[in-house]
Amino acid sequence: MEAHRTDEFARRTQAPGLTVLVAAYNEAEALPLLHPRLQAVLDGLAQDGLSGRVLYVDDGSRDATWTVLQSIAATDARVALLRLSRNFGKEAALTAGLDHVGDDAVLILDADGQDPPELIPQFVAKWREGFDDVHGQRQAREGETWAKRATAHAFYRVIGRLSRTPVPADTGDFRLLSPRAVAALRQLRERNRFMKGLFGWVGFRQVAIPYVRAARSAGQTKFNFWRLWNFAIEGITGFSTAPLRAATYIGLLTALFAFLYAVWVIVKALAWGDPVAGWPTMMVVILFLGGVQLIALGTIGEYLGRLYEEAKQRPLYLVDAWRPARGVSSGQVPAQGHDDAHGTPPARIESA
Ligand code: UDP
Ligand code: MG
Repeated sequence: MEAHRTDEFARRTQAPGLTVLVAAYNEAEALPLLHPRLQAVLDGLAQDGLSGRVLYVDDGSRDATWTVLQSIAATDARVALLRLSRNFGKEAALTAGLDHVGDDAVLILDADGQDPPELIPQFVAKWREGFDDVHGQRQAREGETWAKRATAHAFYRVIGRLSRTPVPADTGDFRLLSPRAVAALRQLRERNRFMKGLFGWVGFRQVAIPYVRAARSAGQTKFNFWRLWNFAIEGITGFSTAPLRAATYIGLLTALFAFLYAVWVIVKALAWGDPVAGWPTMMVVILFLGGVQLIALGTIGEYLGRLYEEAKQRPLYLVDAWRPARGVSSGQVPAQGHDDAHGTPPARIESA
């Protein structure tokens, strides 16, 4: 037994395993479809000598997600479960997951089957080649509206231009991160959790794997237009101060225009006299300036709000339940007495 433990320890310290991290919010219908596919993939990887686990993060679901997850974990010793105290949003759920994967490499996957688990071996192959961030790059999106595809396209182009660190186009959260990339990400405790930007900030060796994004297997998308719009603003303000500068330039341009106009008014009055005051012109100028000022104020407010959020230093998420995986390799007999649904979370939940 002792010898076995030492072997196990040696193997683990030499070669990190892989944890598939899935954030799930109201995915009771999709998870039973996803898990068998993941199991098949993990079995294949195990034959290749890579021990795989799955960590499901229940992001405060209101449906039967947690019950479904518990029955999945009961039949599969490789499954770890984490439940947040409420819905914190996908980005926070992923952060919680990254805090709980130990020294493993992590593969992030959507619960709805849009990111095909069957591609995982390709990601692993790139990781073994020495890449730290292997990300799926969507070649096509199935089952998504034209409007969503168009806005997503525009968003990636805008953020790609504005951001100071690279945000690869058409890249979602479907990616594999090496242990050192995970460790680096864990250090980023900012409240503005635009993960696509954070991944880019970390750097290291990155490579894209083209794939076709499938349609949702079951259930509804959690991101309506409004949520996506706010997400886009988060992304832009979190990774670029260009809007602040734009406000300055617009102000400068307006001032220049006003100055030229004043010169023109004086010249006109001197040359031809000015018997009637230009009421419409005045209204246009006042309204225009008012609008520009409000935009600039709003932009400043957006960044001020972010400062306020950071200054509060609240935890990024709260853990309700943590249930570690009972075993690592497939076919292993589950250890007894480890059904620790309310165990203490090993990772810090404060902002380190
Ligand atoms: N998700 C989450 N918390 C949320 C919203 C979504 O954990 O507050 C998860 C969701 O369960 C899914 C993934 O994030 O696994 C992507 O969500 P969705 O499929 O709704 O987004 P879309 O693919 O439409 O962009
Ligand atoms: Mg989806």
